[in-house]
Amino acid sequence: MAAGAPWGYVPMSDFAIGKRAIAICDRCGQQYLLKELKKLFINGQQVNTKVCPSCWEPDHPQNQLGRYPVRDPQALRDPRSDAPEREASREITVPGGGTVEDYIQDSFPV
Ligand SMILES: [Zn+2]
Repeated sequence: MAAGAPWGYVPMSDFAIGKRAIAICDRCGQQYLLKELKKLFINGQQVNTKVCPSCWEPDHPQNQLGRYPVRDPQALRDPRSDAPEREASREITVPGGGTVEDYIQDSFPV
C-alpha cells in the first residue's frame, strides 16, 4: 500500500489531469485540447508559450549563436593578388634584397 493518509488517500499532483481541457494556441489563436499544445523553446530556454502542433517549431540553431566558441578566421596568411596583370602581384622578393638570379647563384654555386 502506498504511503499516505490512513483512509487511503494517496497524495498526487496538485493539478488536475485535464484530459478534456480546452486551450487556445498562443500563436494562431485556434482552439485545441490542452494536452495537444506543446511548449516552445527559444535559445534553449523554455518560454511561457504553448502552441499547437502546426505552430510548433524546434529551436533553431541560429538562436544559439555565441553559446559555443566558433573559430572561423577570415584573413589569409601571406595573401597574393588574384590580378596577374599587376606587376606587384608577381614580384618575387629575396632575403637581403637583390635580384633573384644573384640569390640563386649565391645559394647554389656552380
Ligand atoms: Zn497554433
